[in-house]
Amino acid sequence: MALRIERIPTLRDNYTYLLVCEATGEAAVVDAPEAAPVVRRVESCGARVRQVLSTHHHPDHCAANPELAERFGAPVLGHVSDADRLPGLTTGLEEGDVVRVGAETARILHVPAHTRGHIAYVFDAAKAIFSGDTLFAAGCGRLFEGTPAMMFTALSEKLGRLPDDYRVFCGHEYTESNLRFAAHVEPENRAIAEKLERVRKLRARRAADWHDAAAEEMTIPSTLAEEWATNPFLRARNAAELGRLRAEKDRF
Ligand code: ZN
Ligand code: FE
Repeated sequence: MALRIERIPTLRDNYTYLLVCEATGEAAVVDAPEAAPVVRRVESCGARVRQVLSTHHHPDHCAANPELAERFGAPVLGHVSDADRLPGLTTGLEEGDVVRVGAETARILHVPAHTRGHIAYVFDAAKAIFSGDTLFAAGCGRLFEGTPAMMFTALSEKLGRLPDDYRVFCGHEYTESNLRFAAHVEPENRAIAEKLERVRKLRARRAADWHDAAAEEMTIPSTLAEEWATNPFLRARNAAELGRLRAEKDRF
């Protein structure tokens, strides 16, 4: 595979990703709330960072944008509607735009619901989706600036229509608590029960500090096929059902 994807644990449970085009050595950073762990990783692998990419404007996904942009001399990309609130934004993206990382390309999907300007980056050749706080493993983001109908469109009609074998790289390590909720709402679902057991074992051996997390304790990426089997929000039949689940999860 020509796009190497490094998972960098940041803050308490965030994922920052370093994407390296192996053919050219050119790289991009996705969702960086703090600079130091990203700079260390970039220096240790010798990648040349050409873009700083953001899925949305929340500080736990983009607070380090200005520092990284200055350090690497790189533009900052995010949704065009977030120009006044996404730190360091230089290049506004819209649905259907294409972003190049070396020889690899990503399509932009606009998936407003968690925030109005939330986007996902879809690398077709690499079969990788960077879904931020919209689609999590076994969950979805809170509806801060959108409706259940908007999240239903984002999950079922946009991200969910991508091929089953695409990998889902989301913004947080929330998988275990999401699966506990999933098992609560779908107690008969074998795929959820089995994944919860597997994830509990992985997470039981986690490092005391998330910054020191080993690859073995990371439950990301999953695949869209796994999400169709285990994610109650993706499995919701309509916006009303998704809305009920989201309200219940907020109180769970
Ligand atoms: Zn967020
Ligand atoms: Fe977040």
